[in-house]
Amino acid sequence: MSPSAIQRATKIVATIGTKSGTPDMLQALSLAGVNVFRLNFSHGTQAEHAARVRAIRDLEAATGLPTCILADLQGPKHRVGEVAEGVVLTAGDSFIFDNSTDPGDANRVGLPHPDIFAALEPGARLLIDDGKLVLRVTAIDSDSFATIVEVGGPLSSRKGVNLPDMVIASPPLTEKDHDDLAFALDHGVDWVALSFVQRASDILDVKAKIGGRAALMAKIEKPAALAELSDIIAASDGIMVARGDLGVELPPEEVPGWQKRIIAECRMVGKPVVVATQMLESMITSPTPTRAEASDVAGAVFDGADAVMLSAETAVGRFPVESVQIMSRIVVAAELHIAGNPEAAPPKLPTEPSLYHAVALATVSLAETVGAEVIIAFSTSGNTAVRIARERPQIPFFVLSPFIEVRRRLSILWGTQTAASTITEDFEAAIAEGVQEITARQIAGAGSHAVIVAGMPFGIAGTTNSIRVTTL
Ligand code: PGA
Ligand code: MN
Repeated sequence: MSPSAIQRATKIVATIGTKSGTPDMLQALSLAGVNVFRLNFSHGTQAEHAARVRAIRDLEAATGLPTCILADLQGPKHRVGEVAEGVVLTAGDSFIFDNSTDPGDANRVGLPHPDIFAALEPGARLLIDDGKLVLRVTAIDSDSFATIVEVGGPLSSRKGVNLPDMVIASPPLTEKDHDDLAFALDHGVDWVALSFVQRASDILDVKAKIGGRAALMAKIEKPAALAELSDIIAASDGIMVARGDLGVELPPEEVPGWQKRIIAECRMVGKPVVVATQMLESMITSPTPTRAEASDVAGAVFDGADAVMLSAETAVGRFPVESVQIMSRIVVAAELHIAGNPEAAPPKLPTEPSLYHAVALATVSLAETVGAEVIIAFSTSGNTAVRIARERPQIPFFVLSPFIEVRRRLSILWGTQTAASTITEDFEAAIAEGVQEITARQIAGAGSHAVIVAGMPFGIAGTTNSIRVTTL
């Protein structure tokens, strides 16, 4: 089949905020190509998020296509206390952090985080306001500590503090996160993202709380998480390369290499991976992207990401719909480039020693050999879908599942389209239903081959073991 007939495979995640939360805007964003709607719990009230969840699910009823909602928890974000007007820190000066609530001045500021005081070591850095200010710890007292200002500048109230050199003993969820998580689960979100993950045990703790009601994504934005990357990936259902905070905690020039490494590790074990932050940053205020931004989005596609993400561009920017349209065009162009230049594709992966993977590999290889126009997978858990997507087939790939929850979650996965399967016991009838769906959506023409993968006995999760070639 010609490359132009291939749908966009790399998915788009868009953050919903004050500029994009109305039903009309959500519909326009969906039409422009959004696959996953991200609710950012660092901003907005629960009432605002609840209204967005309702409006997003209404789209599902209107279009018949699953919608996917990612609830992104704020996590243990640290901030300085109040600061008087006009305070500027000067490089070379000493500066005190303490536990007072008095407004800060050019000599001191309150830091309302006992967990930081407990983790301090001389020489550790505090990065304030996205790394614009850099201070280094010189002396530690019982309820205050001294620093030297290495990079100065204006300091104002409640600015964020990043602590790249310390592992903070704080639990993975703050009180606000607990509350937001319960709210998000009550509202049936599909994915939960956890910010500032430091250890694999953070993920396991939260996973136990979620109890399978949503999939869990770890945001990689701390050097401590990079040190435990493989274990964190193994414990998570998906990963976000959270380049915003990662690029504050690491020198920015180290972020691209880590992006490649995180994507490669995720692909190897079949975990969906999202590349996030500043992808089309200039489109917050401008209707067109910079060439460097276009190149960055394409780079994530060439690296093999499952999805690319928009943050402020769609949440609070002036051009939310245009941002999605342009991101979609850049992705399609990059995918067409790969289709025409296979050496530009992400590297082929070694075979994984699992039955799921062996069957997926054989499915994709058979489909390519017979020139099939579509791969159809019957998947109750979504595992078969993940394994087929891992092979990045250059053939449209359809998952039929009886569970809307599974279909919603799979929306984030590379190349995966889904449809409902209403038949759970009679395989021949289920195939007929699947073929009808493919024909109705004009995915493949009459007379072409389809490769179908399923488990026998049919309808029992975890049995994927059978491949069939059929003619449409
Ligand atoms: P944030 O996470 O937008 O919640 O900070 C993404 C990032 O840090 O890149
Ligand atoms: Mn972040």
